[in-house]
Amino acid sequence: MGKIIGIDLGTTNSLAAVWKDGESCLIPNPFGEYLTPSAVSFGDDGIVYVGRPAKERLISHPDKSVSIFKRYMGTEKVYEINGKQYRPEELSAFVLKRLREDAQRYLGEPVEEAVISVPAYFNDMARKAVKNAGELAGLKVERIINEPSAAALACRRQGMKEDETFLVFDLGGGTLDVSLVDCFDNIIEIIAVSGDNHLGGSDFDREIAGWFCREHGLEFESLSMQRQGVILESACRAKCGLSKKGSVCMKVTDGEFQGQMELTNKKLIEISLPLFQRMAAPVKRVVNDGREAMLEISKAVLVGGSCRMPAVRQYLRHMLPDSKITAMNPDYMVAFGTGVYAGIKERKEDIKDVLLTDICPFTLGTGIFNKNDEKRTLMSAIIERNSVLPCSKTARFQTAGDYQEHVVIDVYQGEEYYAAGNIHLGEIKVGVPLAPKGQETVTVCYTYDINGILIVDVEVDSTGEKRRQVITTGEGVIAPEEIKKRVEELEKMKLSPAGQEENQGILAWGERLFAQTTGALREETRKRLEYFQHVLHVEQDRYKVEKCKSRIRNFFQSVEDYLDDAGVGRNPEDIALWFQEDDVEDEEPGEEYQLWSDGRLTH
Ligand code: AMP
Repeated sequence: MGKIIGIDLGTTNSLAAVWKDGESCLIPNPFGEYLTPSAVSFGDDGIVYVGRPAKERLISHPDKSVSIFKRYMGTEKVYEINGKQYRPEELSAFVLKRLREDAQRYLGEPVEEAVISVPAYFNDMARKAVKNAGELAGLKVERIINEPSAAALACRRQGMKEDETFLVFDLGGGTLDVSLVDCFDNIIEIIAVSGDNHLGGSDFDREIAGWFCREHGLEFESLSMQRQGVILESACRAKCGLSKKGSVCMKVTDGEFQGQMELTNKKLIEISLPLFQRMAAPVKRVVNDGREAMLEISKAVLVGGSCRMPAVRQYLRHMLPDSKITAMNPDYMVAFGTGVYAGIKERKEDIKDVLLTDICPFTLGTGIFNKNDEKRTLMSAIIERNSVLPCSKTARFQTAGDYQEHVVIDVYQGEEYYAAGNIHLGEIKVGVPLAPKGQETVTVCYTYDINGILIVDVEVDSTGEKRRQVITTGEGVIAPEEIKKRVEELEKMKLSPAGQEENQGILAWGERLFAQTTGALREETRKRLEYFQHVLHVEQDRYKVEKCKSRIRNFFQSVEDYLDDAGVGRNPEDIALWFQEDDVEDEEPGEEYQLWSDGRLTH
């Protein structure tokens, strides 16, 4: 049997982990990093770039590059690139394929199966889209795990107190998940979950970009994709800068356009107040569920890259004054958890006793006749949200009309009163004997498994006729029969060879900087890029390539620093000259990072 890996398929970054030598280990990518940007870019030569090179190309080749597609998993959204159409699960499949290849190289053995984490609040169709993405990448995905549950597993392994109830606040690039976790002995129980599928770090980037544009008399939406990309990148950088110092200068340099603004935490809060307000609702809901269950929440564990924002931590402190707020390595917790789960799934001796119970985040029900308004069917709950998985619930319904020929069970997911306000997952139609209304009945059984896959059984009570349907497809999901065809198509598209990733990353980095700079600095960037390409493709001298690589990296980093910096006291020309001097030392990684730099979850 091939190895099982855990994958945190994130909106912004994805990671892979594996259970090895009694612990969860992160798997490095060809750059030696654990975070692989969830970005895909298509080259004219048929090569598909994934990760860092693709992220760089978001700016230099915006029409051929995509990111944040996880947000649209399970929807009908289609991306058109190079005249071809791609669904979010196909784009995710490229990321998964990259992680799989990295894992195979790292482990030196084939990887055929993965446990993939998804936001707890992902609906049924989005979960199926993730499974399909795995299949498209050649991975068997038997188990999908909720991100906060994965984070809880990682927290548990990290030597938390024996019995404890805590809140996991997971704010990533595109989603917010809040869950209440109760740990007792070896059992990790998810008590309640809530969240927002459309709230994450990228929303803050957009708010900052919008504010910057308003202040400079620009309208963000009407700018070219390339300029939007440049401004969003600067916004993201400024936002991240605020986790290190209280005030940063957001500087945008794009061709002839130059602008700068001072951003502080206070300003960030002011311009993104609606986002903070949206954060409160799921927290309140989960805290209330905890009170109802008479559980005392001792702490809130922050995970997800966006929890690095001091403003977020400040806001949570304000909302949860009685809980201790801890942020343990927010970027890696979910991935570590998937690695732990991969170990459980492999039934490894040192971990097999851990039991994780999960819950159904949404209510699942059916539409029923509304005698007050025949046009608006009502939602009748069959499996209530927060029911422990796997679960099976039965309900009986009777005919609503005289001599009706059949009964239609419409399957809905959601909390809305009217069925139409919820997500329609599918329908089952069964024939019933003709009879006056109310005389014929059907028994409906919903079974929801640990992966969040729903099976609906319907039985006509008078005739014993049975129907079963596994709700697998919806408009937002690729049908199983189509998957094989798409796998073959994707197989034909080759990812760029791993050995070349680093060089391609550098080239793409240069292309982006070229787009962002002007004058002499731009010219210098062009020259360096041209020279690097020459050494790489014409001279092909390994020693020279390595030397050139190290120099060009330092040069680009210095250009980055220049763009970051307000440029006070420096002008582009000086910089271009200055960088011809000796190499600049790489910055030392921060304390927190060093703790984790060997990619292991220790306890
Ligand atoms: P994740 O999906 O957990 O990888 O989180 C990615 C999000 O975290 C992105 O929106 C990043 O911009 C954001 N992020 C990463 N580092 C920081 C930081 N230092 N300060 C603020 N946001 C950050």
